[in-house]
Amino acid sequence: MKRRALLATTLLACISIRASDETRLEMHLRAIRWDSYQDQAVRLLQKYLRIDTSNPPGNEQAAAEFFHKLFDSYGIPNTVFTYAPARANLYAVLKGDGTLRPLVLLNHMDVVRAEPRNWKAPPFSGQILNGEVYGRGALDMKDEGLLQAMVMLIAARERLPLKRDLVFLATADEEVGDAGSAWVLKNRPDLVRGAEYLITETATGRGGHGSIPISDSAPNRLARAMARVVDWETPVRLLPFVEEYFHRIAAIEKEPMASKLRDIRAALKDPAFARALAGDEDYNYLIRDTVSLTVLKGSEQTNVIPDTSSCELDVRLLPGEDPQAFLAQLRAVVADDRIAIEPISRYRAPNSSPTNTLLYRTIEQVVHQHNPRALVVPALNSGYTESQMYRPLGIFSYGFIPVEITPELDSTEHAANERVPADQIRRGVKMLYEVVARVANQQDTQP
Ligand SMILES: [Zn+2]
Repeated sequence: MKRRALLATTLLACISIRASDETRLEMHLRAIRWDSYQDQAVRLLQKYLRIDTSNPPGNEQAAAEFFHKLFDSYGIPNTVFTYAPARANLYAVLKGDGTLRPLVLLNHMDVVRAEPRNWKAPPFSGQILNGEVYGRGALDMKDEGLLQAMVMLIAARERLPLKRDLVFLATADEEVGDAGSAWVLKNRPDLVRGAEYLITETATGRGGHGSIPISDSAPNRLARAMARVVDWETPVRLLPFVEEYFHRIAAIEKEPMASKLRDIRAALKDPAFARALAGDEDYNYLIRDTVSLTVLKGSEQTNVIPDTSSCELDVRLLPGEDPQAFLAQLRAVVADDRIAIEPISRYRAPNSSPTNTLLYRTIEQVVHQHNPRALVVPALNSGYTESQMYRPLGIFSYGFIPVEITPELDSTEHAANERVPADQIRRGVKMLYEVVARVANQQDTQP
């Protein structure tokens, strides 16, 4: 009897310690006065967008200095790593008590170039029109970079309890050559080594159009070969997590599409359905390797027939595909041995992170608190993010930008009039902070 009573007391004591940890966090979150941080987030985003980090040339040093000053004024330890003239990464850290492994907030500071002629507000103005903040990088990815910086500022000022280090890493050159992240991983891997989680951007597909050159032999032969390549239907291959993705998004589709997506494997056996699905550019890349003809070069002058011509293909392979085998298939489709085919950039093996992790579950939970109807699903991305470089270090990496945008706004990424609604920035800073604060104070208890 006595022993049993003792046990019960011990158990109660344990529970009360755990509860008080959680209560402390909830109290912390409730005590924050969001209004002023939200105003500050929008103001700082405008300021950040005014720094021209068009890549090339990049000039991310200016953006790194912006964060450096900001973090210094909040007493957050940080370092600018200049690795080439005007090219720099910035690293900042808030130390946790060391119980758990670090969480990394990763963002890139460079943006793609902008042609100001077609913009309603100049691309480096950070101007607000109709409640939307305009600027190159407003979606890719100065919005997320700034939200991550805000999370650091709020965590420092509000003295967020931390069981893990909170690392902020802003890199250069993501849009062109990944030299910034490559420098970190080669020279200072200790900055991220041992981290358990990483949050960065989600990518959307990047595409372009080209035209077929006119006149004579070298260009003509190339044009014929490329016509075969462009019409080539690569085989359909259904990956398990893509199958799961379709199964889950069926919930927001109408019939008869919904039933088909729910059992996509069976549905794809119908050739008419397979063709229709492949005809949807948002679905096509999920089920097959894709090839886009992007660069075509021939003569510089209309009346000169060139003796050589060349083109470039953007090839995206599904995870698990063998690049050499693909190259052999491509040669067979081109079927012209006077056309040389060479890989022009290094092949990057696709990778992914599992969804049964604390960070994933926390994102799901916080998203649903803010929008009960939101669907949180793992997705195969047609684009590229730096997650690919950090996952091999054993860090669970996800794209998560807590900003809801319409398809119309989405299409401005890498295009004219890139912008983000100011109220989404205001909401986003709170969501991201909640995710980070929870993950920074919890251990993954599920195996
Ligand atoms: Zn990006």
